[in-house]
Amino acid sequence: MRRKAKYVIVAYIFIISDSPGVLNGQNLYTLLCAGRSSKHVSVKKQRRNGEKMIFKCRNCGGNVVYSPEKKSMYCPHCEGIESQQKMEGTSEETCANCGAPLHAGTFSSSARCEHCGNYIVFDKKVQGEYEPNLILPFKIGKEGAKEILKREFKKRAFTPASFLSEATLDKMEGAYVPFWLYDYIAQYHYAGEGTKVRSWRSGDKEYTETSYYRVIRELNIDFDKIPVDASIAMDDGIMDLMEPYEYKDLEGFQDKYISGFLSEFFNEDAEKLEPRAKRKAQSDAEALLQESLSGYSTLRAQHKQLNMDRLGFFYALLPVWVYTYSYRDQKFPFYVNGQTGKVIGKTPMSMQKLAGYSATVFAITFLIVNFLFMICKL
Ligand SMILES: [Zn+2]
Ligand SMILES: [Zn+2]
Repeated sequence: MRRKAKYVIVAYIFIISDSPGVLNGQNLYTLLCAGRSSKHVSVKKQRRNGEKMIFKCRNCGGNVVYSPEKKSMYCPHCEGIESQQKMEGTSEETCANCGAPLHAGTFSSSARCEHCGNYIVFDKKVQGEYEPNLILPFKIGKEGAKEILKREFKKRAFTPASFLSEATLDKMEGAYVPFWLYDYIAQYHYAGEGTKVRSWRSGDKEYTETSYYRVIRELNIDFDKIPVDASIAMDDGIMDLMEPYEYKDLEGFQDKYISGFLSEFFNEDAEKLEPRAKRKAQSDAEALLQESLSGYSTLRAQHKQLNMDRLGFFYALLPVWVYTYSYRDQKFPFYVNGQTGKVIGKTPMSMQKLAGYSATVFAITFLIVNFLFMICKL
């Protein structure tokens, strides 16, 4: 029995006794075993004391960014590969390239200068206590994300024409969202009474047989990296919908990956956000238990106990393309998972297209009614 998991869950279910033995003596099976996917990467850390820095090209002085397509650092000006060198700046308020004021958010760890378009990394927000353990580098670049959005929404009848225009799509930004990833082991104990009811008819009599079973389950569940976003600006529900991420691509954090993208450091700490991870684990544990309890006509729980122990947590940056479309004073945010390409967002309805459509329906209806009327007259 295999269930699609949003993250890795390994569950061993021990059916201690289902008397009488209705499960063919099978007393241990693996409900889901996807294997652990954590990857341990050691990265040499370079400590710097500057407030911010920029990756400059050794060949031409342009801003070197991480290219998901090339899987390397890339200079878009001279097409140099891995030609970057770090240049320090002192103040967080101004661009390290042109000196223009930077309008970065409270939780920004990197920003794009509105004046020159260069990407600045705020050193202190990715070092020390703010240094992520892990990062999932973007797999899908801007062009790829644009194509995904175009494909997804081309067929939607009432999307305004400007929604997919190159000019508006170009405003799309790649952002690394801070996440806490929690590991737990859990034991779920269940004891109850189950019934199975069989009915049959013989002659003019109807028989019903009710068999009673003592049902006991012991689930040992291993949760690997349950994700909870640590960004206040990002809607929790939307971020949950962005799952699943493939954790096999997680790497040790390196600041070069965030050059070319916006990023935030965690807005809230792991302890504060842990209840959300626990709720996800509890709901998954309940689903696993219910799957293991199928086949009874009725079930009455006598004892249920879920014990969870946190093994640890990681601070990780996960990639999301963000596209905010404004239509009639309303904002419509769209998100594309920067690793898998999954799209979340609701398209606006063009009133103009909708009006055109209603008018067409009305015109056709009118013609048909008219036509019927004419036939009747004949
Ligand atoms: Zn260059
Ligand atoms: Zn600048």
